Amino acid sequence: MQDLKHTDITYLPGIGPKRAKVLGDELGIHTWHDLLYYFPYKHIDRSRVYMISELTSDMPFVQLKGQFLSFEEQGVGRKKRLVGHFTDGRQVMDMVWFNGTRYITSNIKLHEDYIIFGRPSVFNGHINISHPDVDPADTLVLSKMSMQPYYSVTEKMKKRGFSSRTIEHFTSTLFLQMRDNVQETLPQYLLDRLHLMPLDTALRSIHYPSTADELSHATMRLKFEELFYIQLSILSYSRERSANRQGHRFPVVGNLFNTFYNSYLPFPLTGAQKRVIREMRIDMGSGRQMNRLLQGDVGSGKTLVALMLMLIAIDNGYQACIMAPTEILAEQHLDTFRSFLKDMPVRVELLTGVVKGRRRKAILEGLVSGEVQILVGTHAVIEDNVEFRNLGLVVIDEQHRFGVAQRARLWRKNVVPPHVLVMTATPIPRTLAMTLYGDLDVSVIDELPPGRKPIKTLHIYDNRPEELYRGVRQEINAGRQAYFVYPLVKESEKIDLKNVVAEYEHLQKVFPEYRISMVHGQMKPADKDAEMQRFVSGETQILVATTVIEVGVNVPNASVMVIQNAERFGLSQLHQLRGRVGRGAKQSYCILVTDYELSKDTRRRIQIMTETNDGFEIAEEDLKLRGPGDLEGTQQSGVAFDMKLANLARDGQLVQLARDTAEFVLDQDPQHDRPMNDILWNQLKELRREDEDWSSIS
Ligand code: ADP
Ligand code: MG
Repeated sequence: MQDLKHTDITYLPGIGPKRAKVLGDELGIHTWHDLLYYFPYKHIDRSRVYMISELTSDMPFVQLKGQFLSFEEQGVGRKKRLVGHFTDGRQVMDMVWFNGTRYITSNIKLHEDYIIFGRPSVFNGHINISHPDVDPADTLVLSKMSMQPYYSVTEKMKKRGFSSRTIEHFTSTLFLQMRDNVQETLPQYLLDRLHLMPLDTALRSIHYPSTADELSHATMRLKFEELFYIQLSILSYSRERSANRQGHRFPVVGNLFNTFYNSYLPFPLTGAQKRVIREMRIDMGSGRQMNRLLQGDVGSGKTLVALMLMLIAIDNGYQACIMAPTEILAEQHLDTFRSFLKDMPVRVELLTGVVKGRRRKAILEGLVSGEVQILVGTHAVIEDNVEFRNLGLVVIDEQHRFGVAQRARLWRKNVVPPHVLVMTATPIPRTLAMTLYGDLDVSVIDELPPGRKPIKTLHIYDNRPEELYRGVRQEINAGRQAYFVYPLVKESEKIDLKNVVAEYEHLQKVFPEYRISMVHGQMKPADKDAEMQRFVSGETQILVATTVIEVGVNVPNASVMVIQNAERFGLSQLHQLRGRVGRGAKQSYCILVTDYELSKDTRRRIQIMTETNDGFEIAEEDLKLRGPGDLEGTQQSGVAFDMKLANLARDGQLVQLARDTAEFVLDQDPQHDRPMNDILWNQLKELRREDEDWSSIS
């Protein structure tokens, strides 16, 4: 059998060292296998041949059959062009070239049959086609050419004379040269069960399908395979881990939890909060390590859930810690916990990069002795010199900034790893969550605390600031507070972004009667905190900020969020920012201020924001607009197997099918020893080997 992966591309007739180098440098094609997996980005149906009389200038691509009668040079200087008079036997029309003309005149023969392919346009009142594809009619067997593949080539390649047609030539040669069928990568019983094409057929068909239907079957088979192996890898990895990895057993719901629940809780829990707490109590009582993702829109009350779970850990004799992505947030968690717990006998401490010297030493000692029961911190917590007496639960707030590898470091802190709860306010569509965090179980808080009024979101252009100021003044005079958020700190020469500092000064003039705080990324942490604190305590009425406030800041009295240059923010970022208001029972407003000229995508983003408050809907839209590759965290998720065809945003159902199938396989063959699955485990091993990142993750 030919070993395609190890057959160098230069063994293909027509590819010498020079072309091989271009293919390798530009497209990463080094072997026959690479070429086989270089899929066309589209196909054009070439089964139809038109007559000249049928052509109109609004047709996309057309195909004609006929002969050239003569060639003629027209125009002078830069307008010089080559015109070929072409006939289909009934009428005559012009084909036009503006460059490469010598090649045309020396290669195309008059009075012989050619197939012309191109886009009709109108010039001087006549229909013509410029730079058409021209193929001798006898080499192109039209019936076989119904769906012609189009391959992308880079600009550099075009300069070297490569085109889609060149690649087409290579792939067709490849199929002629391949003596054997491509080795199958899925077991026959799965192909049968799911009605999938064999790999060999799928690969031939995705390049050279005879019908659109065949193409879609081939694409589906190959997409499925990509998604399936990712799911199989993630699931088998997490099953192995949960089978092997013991967890602390938290059998009791004790004194602290009950006292808190009965006497300290300032409001009833929402149904969703109760449900997720129950789910996690079951996890933590099972004797296996909990690995759970808690999703909940901004303001859904995740922090409180985390606190109550930590109380369960303490009731069972363990310590707990929570990590926040920024110092401000860590401090806010500390305040929140202390004010929830009041005089309860729980020692909560803060450990961040700014906690130094004697204080730090005391906290570290308290952790070793077990006196510190809850540690609130930033990444500093996972530094190696932080030791716990018996860490039972780790909560990670705002997951996407912590990779799988970082989570793994936490596990190493104990012989028996702590339970891990990852909380995220970035709602991730289910299909994506399944893939990005496939090794985590998922709990969802899909209900906001009662009494919240949906935030009203308005869009205004930046040439009408008076209106904006009037509205803001009204709210502040009614006792509320307002955020003004800007995209950048320093004015950039290229993009005219408002300078936060300048705006701060400007707003002081607009609102001389109010006090204003300012925070931005260039400030010292201590100054930042002090300014923030003034707003939190209500001493200032307006907070002017860059996106440092994006996640987690909680000031229920704030009712206005003004986002300047809203066109510069992504959808999920806008949603996160908006989530800073609407935290009390009062009506809140989010005002998106933009430039007058907006791109189509930006208009769409703004429109979505004004139409819905639903984080999951927004996340789906965001995914559609941006594509999953852009999502923070994709890199660290362990999903490194190549996805050439599948798209997590668009192929949700197929992700589900892949997931279900992987579950099915693992249920049937937990020991990986059933011969009918040999093909799967071998392929998985192969993929994992190719994927170097993977090995460093576990
Ligand atoms: P998240 O972290 O999910 O964005 P928070 O935990 O910051 O949300 O909660 C937002 C606000 O809602 C906080 O002020 C919190 O005290 C309050 N809250 C949480 N749970 C409830 C509840 N069940 N009823 C009323 N208010 C709640
Ligand atoms: Mg939060």
